[in-house]
Amino acid sequence: LSLDNIAQLTIDDLLNKEFECQCGKLHSVSIGRVIIGENAVSKLPDVLKSFNYNRIFMVADNNTYRVAGKNVENILLSLDFALSSVIYQRGSVLVPDERAIGQFMLNYNRNTDVIVAVGLGVINDISKYMGFILGVPYIIIATAPSTDGYTSDCSAFIINNTKISIPSSPPKVIIGDIEILKNAPMEMILSGLGDMVGKYSPLRDSKIGYIVTDEYYCEVIRKIVETSVTKCVQGVQGLKAGMKKITLYFHIELL
Ligand SMILES: [Zn+2]
Repeated sequence: LSLDNIAQLTIDDLLNKEFECQCGKLHSVSIGRVIIGENAVSKLPDVLKSFNYNRIFMVADNNTYRVAGKNVENILLSLDFALSSVIYQRGSVLVPDERAIGQFMLNYNRNTDVIVAVGLGVINDISKYMGFILGVPYIIIATAPSTDGYTSDCSAFIINNTKISIPSSPPKVIIGDIEILKNAPMEMILSGLGDMVGKYSPLRDSKIGYIVTDEYYCEVIRKIVETSVTKCVQGVQGLKAGMKKITLYFHIELL
């Protein structure tokens, strides 16, 4: 991995691999597959079979169930997968708190091969964390490009009314169905863009930390992140037109 070859690498080139980097460190990506495209959800059964996952625990809320979860449920049941689920019913937003964790556990089937999360930020965070502590892999079907957190190894929770970040495992597979993503509410799409634009600050902070206090710094990682941010900013006009540029949000945080 070096500044010379990074521009030629696609997402698939980076997945499920370790890289000796020019910075001297070994970087790794544990995410196995990223499937972004039209009708991407229809590829879920093949993905599950490829990993020999037959017993599924699906996580959604009333909104994401309506947008995609019901379809996922129909697909899985028609193919004889064993399906259990928790569908959070909320009048307003789902909060990632003790109540949400408790509901997950009360509905959880311990005979589960994989957690399939259908949703965005909060559903992703809850499933990522629960998969981590239960030792069960999880797959995310993204319903909005509202966050850069799908690939991260941390979850945001509100515990004791305090926002905290908890270590978790990144997903085994990320599925982004363009038909679902592009129809997400514009404020959610702009929220994702905001997450990406917000990276300008840490990009500069890390360079300053290197110069001033000799903190660890990798020029290759900086270049990957900066390229992703640039692509998203260049895609803004496409967002207004509802174009498929939103897929660019997924070029994020893979390292
Ligand atoms: Zn490096």
